[in-house]
Amino acid sequence: MKNENKALSGWDAPYAAAPESSSHAKIKKQYDLFIGGKWVKPSSGKYFDTINPATELKIAEIAEANASDVDLAVKSSRKAYDTVWSKLPAKERGKYLFRIARMIQERSRELAVIETMDGGKSIRESRDIDIPLVSAHFFYYAGWADKLEYAFPNRKVQSLGVAGQIIPWNFPLLMAAWKIAPALACGNTVVLKPAETTSLTALKLAEIIQDSGLPDGVVNIVTGFGATGAAIVKHPDVNKVAFTGSTDVGKLIQKSIAGTDKKLTLELGGKAANIIFDDAPIDQAIEGIINGIFFNQGHVCCAGSRLFVQENVADLVISKLKRRMETLIVGDPMDKNTDIGAINSKQQLKTITDYIEIGKNEGAEMFQSSCSLPGKGFFVRPTLFTNVAQSHRISREEIFGPVLAIQTFRTIEEVVEKANNVPYGLSAGVWTDKGSKIFNLTQKLRAGVVWANTYNKFDPTSPFGGYKESGFGREGGMHGLDAYLK
Ligand code: ADP
Repeated sequence: MKNENKALSGWDAPYAAAPESSSHAKIKKQYDLFIGGKWVKPSSGKYFDTINPATELKIAEIAEANASDVDLAVKSSRKAYDTVWSKLPAKERGKYLFRIARMIQERSRELAVIETMDGGKSIRESRDIDIPLVSAHFFYYAGWADKLEYAFPNRKVQSLGVAGQIIPWNFPLLMAAWKIAPALACGNTVVLKPAETTSLTALKLAEIIQDSGLPDGVVNIVTGFGATGAAIVKHPDVNKVAFTGSTDVGKLIQKSIAGTDKKLTLELGGKAANIIFDDAPIDQAIEGIINGIFFNQGHVCCAGSRLFVQENVADLVISKLKRRMETLIVGDPMDKNTDIGAINSKQQLKTITDYIEIGKNEGAEMFQSSCSLPGKGFFVRPTLFTNVAQSHRISREEIFGPVLAIQTFRTIEEVVEKANNVPYGLSAGVWTDKGSKIFNLTQKLRAGVVWANTYNKFDPTSPFGGYKESGFGREGGMHGLDAYLK
């Protein structure tokens, strides 16, 4: 299969390595907590290691914040809100955000390198997608800061106070930007916790914030594990909780703030359906499917992890997909040729390989690209399953890895029913030549975002969020302001 596929695709010689240099990335040996504009030691004295998932080598030590550190961060956030930030003219808030956006652009190369070292995603993605979107979000919300009355005409808007924000590891700095930029633009102050495996770029952002002269305490970054996140959620002086992560933790958070007047937005898991009709531009769709599930190692809550192909083109689509998968380069994320980098953690690699076993045991037929994997680090081959049934766990549960489950369909009614028949509803994709089919499906698919003839396209002006167990509230665009205002 290997040779046959390579001959068919014309890909038979490996590319010479083209690694990005990390020599300009300034990483300290140890990071403290960023509270009240200063670096503060954790009161427990505890630090944990952050490692490079592509090499398994330690990069730095990160402070573990406990409830009393979180309390200090919330108090400093409250003080900054009461004494400075809520009193500042909106135009001045905007100026700080513009300054931070420009500084992110200036340091984009260093941020991209650190994002790749700490998280495992390919340098091409962190350089061309993540970091440009980070500065774009700051620019976008900087523009809104003094125009809120135009976003909500005839309403008097008011900030909420202290926002507690908890983010995952799949887009570390981008998720921080999604949360911090609109919160500050609306006049709130922030306590943010990055995910335990990817704290470094949030801490680099803290350095940028410090250099930008943003008043002390407006943004506080506390690092740690789930218990640190839970301490933020439970703190009585937090007015708003914004969480992106797993549905299980989202449910816990919802329970823990029930009965309080805290405002909440949740962006949780997904199991997106990517739907290919027989009239679709097939080669373009193949690239969209590949991008939809293998982009960022499938570490995307809106990943197109279920593929529905119209029956009469299924053989063609599957054979083209397999051929294309054979050309994907899996390996060193710092290499500019790499398509699929490292899985974020050993634990996540185990989750993915367990699901691959589950798929095989359920009777689905597996295909994996025949590429070789590096000897060290957390890597998995891009994988697809055919002969998948609606009841299979690989077609119902979020895997968060480069694993695609393929099903076929005959009619629109059938595919809508199958696509909607999961507990999630974050995103979907439709590939067809007919505009009428696209409009028909966007009405019927229960998903927050539906891409047509493209996939995984993000823009700060466009709202993002889910239905059902994928959460509620919208981030991005004008809608993203609503979550941070009374
Ligand atoms: P994932 O499965 O994507 O790692 P999690 O939901 O476990 O998602 O983690 C997302 C973020 O939530 C991380 O920053 C993590 O530390 C934090 N977290 C985990 N458990 C809790 C909890 N009980 N309360 C608040 N935050 C939590």
